[in-house]
Amino acid sequence: MVRFREGARLDTSGVQDRRGGGGRAAAVGGGGIGVLGLIAFVLVQVLGGGGGGGSSADVANILAQLQGGGSGTADNTELAQQCRTGADANDSADCAAVAIVDSIQDYWTEALPAATGTGYADTQTVFFSGSVQTACGGATSGSGPFYCPGDQLVYVDLTFFDQLQTQFGARGGTFVDAYVLAHEYGHHVQNLLGTNQRVTPGETGPTSGTVRLELQADCYAGVWANHATTVADDGQEPLITEITQDDVDRALDAASRIGDDFIQTNLGGGTVDQDAFTHGSSAQRERWFSTGFQTGDPAACDTFSTDDLG
Ligand SMILES: [Zn+2]
Repeated sequence: MVRFREGARLDTSGVQDRRGGGGRAAAVGGGGIGVLGLIAFVLVQVLGGGGGGGSSADVANILAQLQGGGSGTADNTELAQQCRTGADANDSADCAAVAIVDSIQDYWTEALPAATGTGYADTQTVFFSGSVQTACGGATSGSGPFYCPGDQLVYVDLTFFDQLQTQFGARGGTFVDAYVLAHEYGHHVQNLLGTNQRVTPGETGPTSGTVRLELQADCYAGVWANHATTVADDGQEPLITEITQDDVDRALDAASRIGDDFIQTNLGGGTVDQDAFTHGSSAQRERWFSTGFQTGDPAACDTFSTDDLG
């Protein structure tokens, strides 16, 4: 089980707690469209100069789910009191999420300039409960965690991590949460690099840019995981002291349950429709996380230049 350095100081400035009242609220059922939006990358060209008429299916999905209100204001007071040290992260899933965000950003701050020459810009993860307003429109928990390029924020209702187990049958665990968060920060890295401009909004299918973007985010998550126990935090020591084979197995198990084919078969219409793929198959998601994890090299994640996506 992934462990955090007991004495490490946690920095909650990497998150915005907009849950109101703190703690985990009741899960919102994620059926239908919501499930298809799982771990969605909301590709918005509006602010990127894409002009009118190009709204992506993802955005349409999100907007369709707009239930209004519920945006909440950020208040980290409770979180800052609750999540002070690595020991707190070992005891609390919420504090673990704070620590994971910290670790992921420590890694990319170091690695992105080295690998690409492009600097990394810190960004926050918004913890929300039920529904949330974003620069990409309103969203609900049913969308699953997502990244919004418009405001460059990661959004997650932490109850999603429970849903992964109850609805998707994943084994779950802290390292699964880490995989999901690292995937979303992978989208932030893509946004910084301009990679999303290589994708036609709304494009779907097994070799579509949309799928290549998602598989690359999985690969980036694996790359972080490779370095997670060695990258130094502000205290010049690794924040994560241990990742076990069981952790990695659990991440792969989760990846296998959020592939398009698994979702279509088990939570959708029951049949696989490759033309509708947006994230890649379960096998592909496992493969690209593994590629990142085994190589630890962002350059190994070039899903756009290969004919073999797995
Ligand atoms: Zn994604």
